[in-house]
Amino acid sequence: MHTRIAIIGAGFGGLGAAIRLKQRGHEDFVVFERAGDLGGTWRENSYPGCACDVPSQVYSFSFALNPEWTSTYSPQAEIWAYLRACADRFGVRAAIRFRTEVHQAGWDASESHWRISTSRGEWTADVLIAAGGPLNEPVMPKLPGLETFSGEAFHSARWNHAAETKGRRVAVIGTGASAVQIVPAIQPEAGHVTLFQRTPAWVMPRGERPLRPWERWVYRNVPGAQRLVRTLVYWQIEATVIAFLRPAVMRLAERAARANLRKHVRDPHLRAKLTPDYRMGCKRVLKSDDYYPALARGNVDVVTEPISEIRPHGVVTRDGTEHPADVIVFGTGFRVTDLPIAERIRGRDGRSLAEHWQGSPQALRGTTVTGFPNLFLLLGPNTGLGHTSVVLMIESQLKYVLGALRALRHTRTLEPRPEAQARFVAAVDERMARTVWATGCRSWYIDATGRNSTLWPGSTWGYRLKVRRFDRSSYT
Ligand code: NAP
Repeated sequence: MHTRIAIIGAGFGGLGAAIRLKQRGHEDFVVFERAGDLGGTWRENSYPGCACDVPSQVYSFSFALNPEWTSTYSPQAEIWAYLRACADRFGVRAAIRFRTEVHQAGWDASESHWRISTSRGEWTADVLIAAGGPLNEPVMPKLPGLETFSGEAFHSARWNHAAETKGRRVAVIGTGASAVQIVPAIQPEAGHVTLFQRTPAWVMPRGERPLRPWERWVYRNVPGAQRLVRTLVYWQIEATVIAFLRPAVMRLAERAARANLRKHVRDPHLRAKLTPDYRMGCKRVLKSDDYYPALARGNVDVVTEPISEIRPHGVVTRDGTEHPADVIVFGTGFRVTDLPIAERIRGRDGRSLAEHWQGSPQALRGTTVTGFPNLFLLLGPNTGLGHTSVVLMIESQLKYVLGALRALRHTRTLEPRPEAQARFVAAVDERMARTVWATGCRSWYIDATGRNSTLWPGSTWGYRLKVRRFDRSSYT
């Protein structure tokens, strides 16, 4: 079968693409989604406490503000419901092919189109939009003996809802954005929680509060009210990017984070364990009001000794101690800089994105790649953020893609000139070198070659300006 535009993934990116295409009068597009439902990361992550750590006002499409958010930080179930409601409201659900996994997509130069093999048949498409999302392939560390564990062990993004944590001994491995939400959610009812920390995180207060019924009434009924609040929230968060771009400024924020730790953790020994020794922001800054209070409770231990093996009834650390556990939760993150989808997309020369990239993803404006005509990556290389909502980046990219589609009315194919891509990547690298992300820490932003190929080293409006117009001269 043939379609004008094929989209991979029905999460925020793919759904946004489908809606924008439809709004611009495109009808001939298909969304391939390997799961049985839409929602991407917000469908997949259902762990206890799962919520967005970016304020709800900026964590939605700009063209579909949601007056019904119940909190200043939306819980996962609401975001997922929002995405499903958007699919229905904008009439794109019918374009989604569920349970259809893309195995391969290769550019056919003789026909000037993409050949796409899916789990449900073969397709061709003139344009391919890859919106698989950067955070969808869980990493489970290869710990010796894991297969001998007699209880339940699972990754945060594959939460086993049949596994009871109430009254049981739970081992949580990792202290990233996922674990920091899981621990306070399970601590009150768990028998005991042992948190295995490799690197302490910087944690800032979140200041979450419920949105009151009258606020929701105002958002629903007063024209422009919610947009105004969104704009204020947007600029308030956007201003914080300065600290990420100027590491010296970040010292001020570190003081606030240390005060937050002092306020909630009285025990000096525990406090020492939880104090980071790297510049704040180098790894993702966590926002939580209940993480530190949970760690200070009597039924929680923070273990900093490295894990050496798993035994049938517990987790063993290098000092020989066995920490008994009935359940092990891996909050150990995702494959980001070596995305599996990069092995499945093959360009003009038959080589995959992964082969082109050699461990370090690169793209012009994070969206198009030399050697891959008519391919657009949503949240591609160097479009991630450390300070605000990636939905803003997705929407900027979609504007750019729509511009490219207009240009494609006059030509069959578009591909970035190698020198344009190289110039863009060099400029990104140069800016990156001065940011907090280059101050030396281990983080999932850094790829196998030591480059930060994940984040955008600037503001979201700076990126928006860069992609506001499709720059035809950068393309052959
Ligand atoms: P993550 O940030 O990659 O954290 C993984 C954690 O596991 C780190 O603490 C890491 O330690 C630890 N770890 C990994 N391998 C380990 C091993 N072999 N032994 C011991 N510890 C190990 O993963 P995540 O928490 O799932 O978050 C990933 C990203 O998802 C976030 O940064 C964020 O962008 C997104 N996210 C967003 C939200 C939201 O509210 N919007 C919520 C959750 C996640 P090291 O630090 O030492 O590497």
